[in-house]
Amino acid sequence: IERAGMEPAEMGPVREAEEPPGSPALPAEAAQDGPAVAVLPGKEALLAAPGREREQERGRRGADAQGSARRSARGRARRASSRRSGGESARRSGVTVDSSKAKTSLDALKISLRQLRWKEFPLGRRLPCDIYWHGVSFHDNNIFSGQVNKFPGMTETVRKITLSRAMKTMKDLFPEEFDFYPRSWILPEELSLFVEEVRTKKDSDPSWKPTFIVKPDGGCQGDGIYLIKDPGDTRLTGSIQSRPAVVQEYLRQPLLVDELKFDIRLYVLLKSLEPLEIYIAKEGLCRFCTEPYQEPTVKNLHQVFMHLTNYSLNIHSGNFIHSDSVNTGSKRTFSSILCRLSSLGADVRKLWSDIISLVIKTIIALMPELKVYYQSDIPAGKPGPTCFQILGFDILLTKDFTPKLLEVNANPSMRIEHEYEVSPGVFQTVPSPVDEEVKVAVIRDTLRLVDPQKKKRKDTQLCKLQCVSPTQAAVAWCSHGRGLDEMSSKVPPEPTPSVILCCRCQSSEQAREASEELPAAPKSPEAALPSPCLKQVFPKYATQFSHLLLVDRVAALFIRFLGVRGTTKLGPTGFRTFIRNCRLSNSNFSMAAADILYIDITRRWNNMAIEKESGMCLQAFMEAFISLAQKKYKFPKLQDKVSRLTELCESRLAALHRQRLVWGCG
Ligand code: ADP
Repeated sequence: IERAGMEPAEMGPVREAEEPPGSPALPAEAAQDGPAVAVLPGKEALLAAPGREREQERGRRGADAQGSARRSARGRARRASSRRSGGESARRSGVTVDSSKAKTSLDALKISLRQLRWKEFPLGRRLPCDIYWHGVSFHDNNIFSGQVNKFPGMTETVRKITLSRAMKTMKDLFPEEFDFYPRSWILPEELSLFVEEVRTKKDSDPSWKPTFIVKPDGGCQGDGIYLIKDPGDTRLTGSIQSRPAVVQEYLRQPLLVDELKFDIRLYVLLKSLEPLEIYIAKEGLCRFCTEPYQEPTVKNLHQVFMHLTNYSLNIHSGNFIHSDSVNTGSKRTFSSILCRLSSLGADVRKLWSDIISLVIKTIIALMPELKVYYQSDIPAGKPGPTCFQILGFDILLTKDFTPKLLEVNANPSMRIEHEYEVSPGVFQTVPSPVDEEVKVAVIRDTLRLVDPQKKKRKDTQLCKLQCVSPTQAAVAWCSHGRGLDEMSSKVPPEPTPSVILCCRCQSSEQAREASEELPAAPKSPEAALPSPCLKQVFPKYATQFSHLLLVDRVAALFIRFLGVRGTTKLGPTGFRTFIRNCRLSNSNFSMAAADILYIDITRRWNNMAIEKESGMCLQAFMEAFISLAQKKYKFPKLQDKVSRLTELCESRLAALHRQRLVWGCG
């Protein structure tokens, strides 16, 4: 990711910086999701081909080798191949989706399914479906196979308090890399810390006149949010005890367009947790305030239409403008805003690059917690569905074009209609073309990415070829995951489709022969679809963020000692086993001291917890682990201490494992 001050040569995804939203999708990317025109029968494909198909492949190869019946073999192969591709196109429209729990995303989902020509089961189905589309959570239905569009525990993981804690851990470990999240405190536990820190800063800088925003945990749509100038104004009535909140530094100088504050809703697809796969939608929505912005003063603190960008609030303002155009009104597309900013001279490539970085870092911060929930609901080895999820990232741009994360939504609204007030208190809904354009594309392209039949094809194909258009050269890519630049030959300039193979594939001679046997391209509904709006950012840029996965390794240690399946908390025995197996106790740190550490930290975290299940949660374990690292090592950076302790634990556990194998063998 392009960082300020970096030499161009050091820049990571420079291409990223070249194509912010609004630019056309890369042809190579479009190709990846496009229809497979042909399959080159290679050795792996032969091995992977089931029963009769394998026989046909063998027969064809035998005939080819002998050379005597070459033409008739080709004919057979063409027929077999066309049968295969015909079957494939029939199967393609056979992807089944249970939409019975889709709730408010149903309209957008229906349009997407129609475009893909997939089968919808609006009332559910007795037989298993390929995909289950839930409106709220993983648990909307009991699912044992296929794919579900929600991860277990996502709602809990992105709650304001949990997100703030995860961000704090990351900020402690990687201070320079997590400054995109405003400084936050958790109420009521951190009230005294909040008061103290603000007082110290004010003492050192009397010109500092901060504003804070208080947001109730688990709230949404601006519910219960208020601004304060002084920590003493925090409403510490009985309600705060019953409703914990996050208090956050208020970003006083947002970027304004038409004098209005706005935020960006970006859609992010978490396609898989293990391995981590993240996609970002190139298009998003910008939600505008409806009163011209002024920096917060005691007088205007209560003006929600000036300070809060929530659609659900601003819709009630007389100034709300509903527009069918993407670049006017109170809700506009992200690309239209980028165009506007670009015309004002903003470096939108850098901005897009910073946003990608923000998204990847946030997901890495959330990943440990998600994995704990995942193993509890779908333990390894147990048959269960796989999960993916569309998340809504709310991002605010500051005056200097720096993106700041406000929050992550587990269930971003996928409604494609607009509500308007016909008379006071009476609302009517009308279609909203801006919402439809953005949200249908996100759902449709998510489905294209998780298409179970595409996955099957991918597993069995050695090499795919795609003809772009008669006027363009053929583009090819292979299942070795190499890009065009790694291909052994260049894209030929002539307009006729030809074969390009990576060095691991068959010789070009074989390939050319095979290509002669290719059937005509099956007409797939995908061919008529626009290029995908979702762009892979992880693992694509993994190397730049791999050091942040340290928290994931600590979480792996935690999960390893959870023991009983279905739990998310570590018992005292589990913690003792962790200390013993990693040989962390010594003359300075006895087992009794480990027990005390467990009791102290667990008690404090359980007092803060909303659900009262006993045991040590992941974030409490993280605190204990950090405290052990601080005791053990004297490096100046916390990150180095934690990293060294993690390495030590991993190596000792690996040694123990080897030892047990030897004992087992003996
Ligand atoms: P909710 O889930 O209730 O929508 P958010 O965290 O998204 O809560 O906050 C609501 C709105 O408040 C945001 O859309 C944004 O306009 C404003 N806001 C939130 N946090 C900040 C902040 N730290 N600085 C400035 N504005 C903020």
